[in-house]
Amino acid sequence: MAPRILLLTLLLSGTGPVTPSSGATDSNTPDKPIKVIATFPVLTDLVRQVGRDRVTVVGLLSGMESEHTYTPKPADILAIGQARLLVKIGLGLEVWVDGLIKNAGNRRLLVITTSKGVPLLKNPDTPNGSTSLGDPHIWLDPENAKLMVRHITEGLLKIDPAHKEYYMRNQAEYIQELDRTQKRLMTKLKPLRNKKIITHHAAWSYFARRFGLTIRGSIASQAGTEPSAKHLSDLIRIIKAEKIRVIVSEPQLNPKLPQILARETGATVVVLTPIPGALPGAETYRSMIEYDVNRLVDALKN
Ligand SMILES: [Zn+2]
Repeated sequence: MAPRILLLTLLLSGTGPVTPSSGATDSNTPDKPIKVIATFPVLTDLVRQVGRDRVTVVGLLSGMESEHTYTPKPADILAIGQARLLVKIGLGLEVWVDGLIKNAGNRRLLVITTSKGVPLLKNPDTPNGSTSLGDPHIWLDPENAKLMVRHITEGLLKIDPAHKEYYMRNQAEYIQELDRTQKRLMTKLKPLRNKKIITHHAAWSYFARRFGLTIRGSIASQAGTEPSAKHLSDLIRIIKAEKIRVIVSEPQLNPKLPQILARETGATVVVLTPIPGALPGAETYRSMIEYDVNRLVDALKN
């Protein structure tokens, strides 16, 4: 166990206050922005909302990649090597990140897992598996995003306690904005309560629960494997029998299968994004949730 204890000591000492003698290679002298790595565009935005001028954030995914099939770039390791804080979702979503962190060998890096403490829904890919960590798409419920924001603030406070007031004020303002948006959107969807939809990949359980929608099936599994012909014909049967009007597609995925289902059933394809930065008008987390709800309301009303 000795090497582990040593590593822990090094990690802890890396998060302490920085003395001026730490030299030019130090990326975190008190008045320089803190270098933060966000694995995922949602986190990039949430870190910016709390850290504002005090952070420079490098996001690893851009918004156009699927979160399940991302291949890290050599530049990712370099960026992690220079950062003080890395923020991730966890729950096995970023299967590639632990290897990157190890290769970067940055002993001063603080890693924050934002899914900690979030009540999880079952991962639809492993319905019977007790080994499942739960559905990782937690951010699609703004209530969960608020908890994620708190984890981010905590991380920033550990590195930069001198600016506690600044981070706490930004956090409070952002959570309030998020709260207002959430309430407004819930009111908007209320008349459409329990409407049924089909989704492209199984990302939308938290979203559907928060906003009162019923997901009757997904075309692809979370891991992006191709569905069988039987699965597709089952979905077509369900759509027809239950008169489902809306199939949710995503800009990160191939639109072919949702279009085929729509053609077979007369349902409409609506493109929503689970990741900010993929569609105009959905650049931030908050505008993305708003965009997705508005598109859905328009489609379900018709
Ligand atoms: Zn996903």
